[in-house]
This record gives sequence, C-alpha cells and structure tokens, in this order.
Amino acid sequence: MLDEDDVAEIVLNSESPELNGNLSPSLSGKVLLLNGNYEPLTICSVQKAIILLFMGKAEVVGTAGGKRVRSAHASMPFPSVIRLATYIHIPFKRVILSRKNILRRDGHQCQYCGARTALTVDHVMPKSRGGEETWENLVTACIRCNNKKGNMILEDTNMKLRGRPVRPNHVVFLRQYVGAIDKTWEPYLFM
Ligand SMILES: [Zn+2]
Repeated sequence: MLDEDDVAEIVLNSESPELNGNLSPSLSGKVLLLNGNYEPLTICSVQKAIILLFMGKAEVVGTAGGKRVRSAHASMPFPSVIRLATYIHIPFKRVILSRKNILRRDGHQCQYCGARTALTVDHVMPKSRGGEETWENLVTACIRCNNKKGNMILEDTNMKLRGRPVRPNHVVFLRQYVGAIDKTWEPYLFM
C-alpha cells in the first residue's frame, strides 16, 4: 500500500501546473488534486490520479463529461477532480522572490491604479529609507505610479495600495498558472 510519503511524492513530483494552449485541462489528461480538506494541492496526470484512486488514497470529486477510463476488466468515469482520503501536510518549496513572481502575485496589475501595462516593481517603503526587498515591501506598479511616488512614503502621497502585499503560497500560483480552467475545477480554485 502507498503510505503518506508516497502520496506526498506523487503530489510533489507532479507536472508543472503550467498548461499548454487552450486545451481543456481534462481533455489533455490533467486532474486537479485536492487535499483532504478540499484545498487544491496540484495538478497531476490522469495516470497518477488513477494510481491514487486505485490504491484507495483518493476519491473522485468531479468527472470529465462522458469520457471513461477503460482497463481490460472495468471502466470508470474519467476523473477531473480528485480528493485525497486524508489530509496530508506537504512542505511546499518556497516561492522564489523575483520580479516575475511579484508581477504574478499581483495579477500583472499596478497595485496603485490597476494599469496592466508598463509595469515595474516598486518598493512600498523606498530603498533610500531602508525599505527591504521582501514580499511585503515589493509591489507591482506602473511606471507612472512608480515615478509619482518617487522616494516618498505612502502616507505622504494620496496613493493607496489595492491590497496588503503578502508572501504568496502555492495555491495563489496554482490559480494563476491555470490558463485554461476546466469547469469542474472552478469551485475549488476560486473559493
Ligand atoms: Zn499605476
């Protein structure tokens, strides 16, 4: 039988959640894997999903249309969302602090005015005033807002952040990587 470590390995070694093109994820054989508490964990191949189902480590939560997976003796609905039978704690790799990931976290939107073009990264507390390079102090800003703010601290401007910048977790990224979302995934990714 698979133990918790095996399950964790399957989860951690799943494909990068980046999906290609606009193929419906379930048609391209991708399955959304939820933790025991319905929190999205990762996107895995249908082969891995079937191993987990077969070993009794997961249950089907959503299926892909009328498609069925067939073996010599049986067939089952093609899974599109599965849930682990138990909650497992997985030590996810930390998301690397980078310009690209700041923009991703912020949905490629200026965190002051909402612009989606000419994006830069702004130090909320300016570097010259001791502002650090941290998830909490870096936000996406358009060139216009970045110049407008200059070396001022936020309180000295009439500008406002749209939200408090935080360190993203893997779930935040999972949502953004998934360009083409299977209908059956939506309730779990956007809760
Ligand atoms: Zn702006």
